[in-house]
Amino acid sequence: RVELESIGKSFGDTAVLSGINLDVEDGEFLTLVGPSGCGKSTLIRIIAGLEPQTSGRIRIDGAPVDDLRPHERRVAMVFQSYALYPHLSVFANMALPLTMQRLSLWERLPLLRLLSARRRRVMPGIAQEVRSVAAQLQIEPLLLRRPAQLSGGQRQRVALGRAMVRHPGVFLMDEPLSNLDAKLRVHMRSELTELHQRLKSTFVYVTHDQVEAMTMSDRVAMMDAGRILQLGTPAELYARPANVTVAQFIGSPA
Ligand code: ATP
Ligand code: MG
Repeated sequence: RVELESIGKSFGDTAVLSGINLDVEDGEFLTLVGPSGCGKSTLIRIIAGLEPQTSGRIRIDGAPVDDLRPHERRVAMVFQSYALYPHLSVFANMALPLTMQRLSLWERLPLLRLLSARRRRVMPGIAQEVRSVAAQLQIEPLLLRRPAQLSGGQRQRVALGRAMVRHPGVFLMDEPLSNLDAKLRVHMRSELTELHQRLKSTFVYVTHDQVEAMTMSDRVAMMDAGRILQLGTPAELYARPANVTVAQFIGSPA
């Protein structure tokens, strides 16, 4: 459960989010949609702890997280660009969040050294977890490859796997399918929906694709210019759009 209370964000003098109030229920698939520049990525990055809000409060599973750093919140983020480390194998990419979790702060600093030097001591439980997630995503045969040796869809799965290994309560996904070709995108939509049902985790999903929003979500928050215009189930938004902007985006009959 994610509770956002009066979230505001400005970059310098420019306000990009204002008065965002939103409760994402436990296990819900909630999608943020809206035109380019409306603040979707900024909002999801604020929930992840990658960007501080200018005002307002965030609670995750009832606890305030405003002072927690990204890895201390029970969230995992999947980026549009996948953000995989090119010099690490698929296995090492997926193991990284777990490796980081187990090491103290000062040990995390020389990142590469720890990955080679401490591998043997850190790995056993982690290796099992990575294999289990890789099996679920059907990427076990790819574990020894580098990201450059993967297709877009495979990279996307690795990014998803890296988010899954920590069993976060909340998955934050910023346009995870937008780099895929149309056919694979359609396929991955149903895979993500299945994954959501299987994991029973909370998903906050960002897209500017109305088909994704309408077919995958329990509820949709339609944003424009840093505000939430309307929040409801896909059926509600379709049948009773709050205004013309929502109607046009959703494709409701005029
Ligand atoms: P898109 O669909 O194109 O990804 P978005 O809804 O994700 O758009 P954001 O990336 O959240 O939009 O950006 C919202 C606004 O904030 C934009 O006007 C953007 O230019 C601005 N912005 C985002 N990051 C920064 C930053 N680091 N510094 C200054 N302005 C920023
Ligand atoms: Mg964005």
